[in-house]
Amino acid sequence: MHEFAGLSLWHASIDADEWGAQRPRLDGDTHADVAIVGGGYTGLWTAYYLLQRDPSLKVVVLEAQVVGFGASGRNGGWCSALLPMSLDAMAAEHGRDAAVRLQQAMHDTVGEVGRVVAAEGIDCDFAHGGYLSLARNAAQMDRAREHVEHLHSYGFADDDYHVLTEQEARARCAATDVVGGMYSPHCAAVHPARLARGLGRVVERMGATIHEHSPVLAITPGTARTAHGRVLARTVVRATEAFTAALDGHRRDNVPIYTLMIATQPLPESFWSETGLHQRETFADGRHMIIYGQRTADGRFAFGGRGAWYHWGSAMSAKFERNSAVHHKIHESLRELFPHMGDVEVTHQWGGAVAAARDWWCHVAYDKVTGLAAAGNYVGDGVGTTNLAGRTLADLVTGADTDLVNLPWVGHRSRRWEPEPLRYLGINTLMVLPTALDRREARTGARSPWQEAVLARLTGEKS
Ligand SMILES: Cc1cc2nc3c(=O)[nH]c(=O)nc-3n(C[C@H](O)[C@H](O)[C@H](O)COP(=O)(O)OP(=O)(O)OC[C@H]3O[C@@H](n4cnc5c(N)ncnc54)[C@H](O)[C@@H]3O)c2cc1C
Repeated sequence: MHEFAGLSLWHASIDADEWGAQRPRLDGDTHADVAIVGGGYTGLWTAYYLLQRDPSLKVVVLEAQVVGFGASGRNGGWCSALLPMSLDAMAAEHGRDAAVRLQQAMHDTVGEVGRVVAAEGIDCDFAHGGYLSLARNAAQMDRAREHVEHLHSYGFADDDYHVLTEQEARARCAATDVVGGMYSPHCAAVHPARLARGLGRVVERMGATIHEHSPVLAITPGTARTAHGRVLARTVVRATEAFTAALDGHRRDNVPIYTLMIATQPLPESFWSETGLHQRETFADGRHMIIYGQRTADGRFAFGGRGAWYHWGSAMSAKFERNSAVHHKIHESLRELFPHMGDVEVTHQWGGAVAAARDWWCHVAYDKVTGLAAAGNYVGDGVGTTNLAGRTLADLVTGADTDLVNLPWVGHRSRRWEPEPLRYLGINTLMVLPTALDRREARTGARSPWQEAVLARLTGEKS
């Protein structure tokens, strides 16, 4: 067992040999072409594509803890084409064509991740089975139809997104109360920590240096400074996602929002032949409170949801990752979906933080003059998006004039979050609204268009 096995199911399922030795911290000053702060997917994909473009570059990654410590090691493993901002939001600022180009680039990204993990031999249980959003009451079915129609109005086809009848939905996943749903092939299930750890090894093989246990205290043009040394580099990439608020000068750039998960023990084949998810489709349903699940390669449910409070001052702490009330609710939701799983044991409970910008946009940024670069604010959609961010940053930094550098999220600026107490009050109101809406819908069977509109407005929820 390795020291980080307690972080999540994913960390626990990697044995000490596969985990490998810890990398030495940065000691003293060093020069590089590119310094990358953060050893999650954003940092590692950026290193990967930079070195692919130009193998002679000296790339140094500084990671506060260990590779895959953050959200990249702990997530739900949906490598999807989802973005936190809606097509309408992108179209309003940049036109419909730009919105479609970014969405199309995300579709392609799922295949790109699959291509790289196969080519580089990263064994992360990648299964390109698509995703399923079940409708479990009339209101959810209504929304599924609307959502697909909306996507089609942007020119996407049934092959990208289609409505499922009750029979089709049940054939894919026999959860309770299913009346239909929607399906998209643009998602793969992955073992997130194996993807992060594998990428770490690949970029080292390509020539990058990774220093673990090297928290960066300050980023300034040309320098990433830790307590024990500095990396002096023309380009410094900030890839710190939910941890960003702890960096000086970035306190209100984004907020960390906790999302918690559970995993069950492996379920028998008889359970899966009755339940489905035969292509390891990732699954959710159409409720407003976000839930997400996958059938793992070893036959467990890994299942998570939002609902944990935002903490005053954007605080982060290991103790926020364990919340028995929220974990209990997540377990209840899973049992309600699949009561036939019986009293199967929950073997792992964990959590982590995603990052949200004030307008719910994710972004890629590069300032040619200062050499400062960044990407992030993916909310719960970073597994695929980080790959596109890494490719785009590599193009920007190496000066390649590609289609990627002209996508509408490049250079997008979100305004900063309000100071406390407004931030605390606003975000936590947002945490209760979805549950209230779901309860009302379950009780009355009716949608509440104005409350849905408020929620969509506040969260950039995909329309
Ligand atoms: C429980 C959970 C479930 C999720 N489920 C999904 C999902 O199913 N699909 C999906 O698309 N997305 C999901 N997400 C979101 C997704 O995991 C993230 O968007 C993605 O991993 C972000 O990658 P990153 O590299 O930008 O950030 P991270 O993986 O958080 O990496 C940032 C790294 O920077 C390091 N760091 C921070 N500060 C410093 C510093 N000062 N100096 C040096 N290093 C520093 C951290 O230790 C960390 O390792 C989920 C997230 C969580 C927490």
